[in-house]
Amino acid sequence: MGFSVKMVTRAIEETGDQNTEQILEVLLRYSEDAVLREKETKLLHLIDMNFLEDEASSAINACGPDTSIADLIDFIYASQIGKTDDFPLCKPLHQIPNDDEMRPDQRCGFPPTDQKRKKLFAEKFKRKLEMGRSDSKESKKNLKESIEEHDRIRIPRHMIGFGIPNEPRPTFQRKLPEEAIGPPYFYFENVAYTPTGVWDTISRFLYEIEPEFVDSLHFCAAARKRGYVHNLPVQNRYLLQPIPPLTIYEALPMTRKWWPTWDQREKFNCMRTCIGSAKLTQRIKEALECWGGNPPIKTQKRVMYECKKWNLLWSGKNIAAPLEPDEYEFIMGYPKDHTRGFSTTERYKAVGNAFQVDTVAYHFSVLKSMFPTGITVLSLFSGIGGAEIALHRLGIPLKTVVSVEISEVSRSIFRGWWEQTNQRGNLIELEDVQELSTDQLQKYINTYGGFDLIVGGSPCTNLTGSNLHHRDGLAGKESILFYDFWRVLNTVKCIMRNNK
Ligand code: SAH
Repeated sequence: MGFSVKMVTRAIEETGDQNTEQILEVLLRYSEDAVLREKETKLLHLIDMNFLEDEASSAINACGPDTSIADLIDFIYASQIGKTDDFPLCKPLHQIPNDDEMRPDQRCGFPPTDQKRKKLFAEKFKRKLEMGRSDSKESKKNLKESIEEHDRIRIPRHMIGFGIPNEPRPTFQRKLPEEAIGPPYFYFENVAYTPTGVWDTISRFLYEIEPEFVDSLHFCAAARKRGYVHNLPVQNRYLLQPIPPLTIYEALPMTRKWWPTWDQREKFNCMRTCIGSAKLTQRIKEALECWGGNPPIKTQKRVMYECKKWNLLWSGKNIAAPLEPDEYEFIMGYPKDHTRGFSTTERYKAVGNAFQVDTVAYHFSVLKSMFPTGITVLSLFSGIGGAEIALHRLGIPLKTVVSVEISEVSRSIFRGWWEQTNQRGNLIELEDVQELSTDQLQKYINTYGGFDLIVGGSPCTNLTGSNLHHRDGLAGKESILFYDFWRVLNTVKCIMRNNK
């Protein structure tokens, strides 16, 4: 009937092999569980992208749980476009009606004037709705199969990876596949929430290692959900000292006096490469100034939506403003003024793409006892040097770093740090990873005696949920560079094995 052998075996184990009816019932229950899991994963995904729970949930209910994240986002944005006349950027917030005060056509989000657009969307989502509600065995079977085959790796809800400080994953042991074991050690990073199947592919290429999904909110005052595939030991990790502030208040105590009681955030959302506009700050100010004390709940809700979406902090009475670049640096674990000297836009972009240093240092801490005299690193997509800063702060000398980074701004920031911290090792700077040849790798390996660590987080441009236009997965123009990480890693492993 189209159920996988694995599922049937499990169902038989659960029910005994006598009663076919019962086995079928269990199989259908498994399928329903898969649908629920799918719905929950998508809900969390959308919430993580800063959509409101209500709107995410409505979108899933309306379109069906098997709708892709990209289509769900389309749906939500369509609803928001519909609400344009009532939405914060266009009208003072205190004038926004509650959903239940709106006419039905406003509620479902289509501007009455834009009939053509409304009709198009209505048709598209009616079809989705029908598909979502369909409970035919065929559609359940297809859904189950697509979940099983393409999305084997599940993103855990609480991203504590293989254990976070004070809360190690109970009795966690991992056994790496033989061909994954170093040298060299390697460490690959990317955004946790990617289009379906991306982490499966990444894991398959990287020796079937289970990704470690970690949210940096366990390490600092901001969320940052990332997946890491690596072959590092996972026992006896420790934190960088001093431990950074874990809440917004502790990180930015000066803002405390401006923080309204109804904003109960303790953590920022993920630091991104762009920030909220001055116009938005002004709108929020105007909306709040109308009220002497606390604004009504609906205004609070709208303001909180923007604050969460754009990571705004309170920098004055009724002033919700973006974090400054140096506050970004601080929360992400970088030295003060690390990116200073570049335009604000460049600074946000560089830090928004970077590693959260405390998180990465926690994973790298196991290297300290292994490389007491220093480490030789091949750093791909080095950016502003998150990996090197983590190693340096752990007290692991950087003997040689071959750094590959295409952005001149990032290279310059990293070189500045290298000089200011009086590094004694060799820094070799290369630009395009695609041009890093086998001959070059052979030469570096011969000169420096091989690499101890290969590290890199390839561009997430076509993977992240915030890219609504080119979220093409690993085949995307920039995200395809993952395969260069894999190529380089494989080549180095081969050369080092042959040199033994
Ligand atoms: N981990 C880094 C940032 C990684 S973001 C940090 O801590 O800062 C991905 C990086 O890949 C960006 O800095 C981007 O400029 C770089 N990049 C993009 N295309 C590249 C290419 N073809 N070769 C080398 N680097 C590239």
